[in-house]
Amino acid sequence: MFHTSLVDAILKGDKITGIRVLRREGLASIGAKVVIDATGDGDVAARAGVPCTFGNPELGTVQPATLFFHINNVDSQRLTADVQAHLHEFRKVNGVSYRALHWRVEEAEAAGEWDINRKSVNIYRGVHEDEWAVNCTRIAKVDATSTESLSAAEKEGRRQVQELMNFFHKYVPGCEKATIKSSASTLGIRESRHVMGEYLLTADDLLQGVVPDDSILCASNSVDVHGRNGANTTEYKTIQNGRWYGLPLRSLMPQHIDGLIVAGRAISASSDAAGAVRVMPPCMAMGHAAGIAAALAVSGGTVPRKVDAGDVRRILLEQKAFLG
Ligand SMILES: Cc1cc2nc3c(=O)[nH]c(=O)nc-3n(C[C@H](O)[C@H](O)[C@H](O)COP(=O)(O)OP(=O)(O)OC[C@H]3O[C@@H](n4cnc5c(N)ncnc54)[C@H](O)[C@@H]3O)c2cc1C
Repeated sequence: MFHTSLVDAILKGDKITGIRVLRREGLASIGAKVVIDATGDGDVAARAGVPCTFGNPELGTVQPATLFFHINNVDSQRLTADVQAHLHEFRKVNGVSYRALHWRVEEAEAAGEWDINRKSVNIYRGVHEDEWAVNCTRIAKVDATSTESLSAAEKEGRRQVQELMNFFHKYVPGCEKATIKSSASTLGIRESRHVMGEYLLTADDLLQGVVPDDSILCASNSVDVHGRNGANTTEYKTIQNGRWYGLPLRSLMPQHIDGLIVAGRAISASSDAAGAVRVMPPCMAMGHAAGIAAALAVSGGTVPRKVDAGDVRRILLEQKAFLG
């Protein structure tokens, strides 16, 4: 159901039995034997009273948000030639290059025409020859659980889009006549709540390539924490041992409240570990496993945390999931 917002969790003791929602018609309730919280922010879990942390509690930081946008009317041959000419300057971390146009940002910064808290511009080819997607705005300290904070951040994102357009026009070859084709309809949030679950996934688990017995997915995305300590500080750590790590079903099972499963970037993981598993492929695989665990709980007349992880894994394998 689209156009439906969560209002609250409905609880019977320590069990969630449904949710209150706001629909176009007004307030309504939806009953459920199992609720899967895939809000990204752990909204259902938080409303149900599950303990959550926010960002990195030790450092008091949260990954920055980004308003994506697309540009067109770009002379892509000239832009690509500029990037090719500077390939040797790309900064490599663990053999991965992840910066672009930092040579142009330096020029703009020297002229006092850059105030975005980063040193490079991530751009990706679009569908059409003259089109590029821009992943560059950076909005710090956004609290995605606060309407006020989100609203201020959306405004700042739009201001940065305009600043980037000025930058493209003046400093980037091939972009002199670029126009905004579209911008994202909403801010992209990299981090907010981390729901405390039966197991807290840590960055060390990932870097050591640990594959627990109750793994419901295997992934290899690196720990990727953007700009935690300023413009030039994206932290990027790849697996040290093994080719992938596993994510245990226990990290999808919140503490204290029964009948609830969390899938997506709010699962029980430390801030750094979430920096790896928050990306789309693991999030989709979590949704797959959460759906199977929910179905098994309902058909077995039990609660999700009591479902046998071996049964979830068996069905995942039957459905061609990759479990190492
Ligand atoms: C700028 C940026 C770049 C990224 N780049 C990449 C990349 O290159 N590759 C990659 O794999 N990943 C990337 N990611 C990460 C990835 O896109 C997300 O972390 C991932 O999609 C999160 O999935 P999710 O299912 O947990 O949450 P989401 O995809 O955010 O889904 C949550 C859904 O819940 C809905 N919702 C939330 N709260 C409520 C509520 N209270 N009531 C009703 N509905 C609600 C939302 O509308 C949304 O539809 C990027 C993220 C950002 C921000």
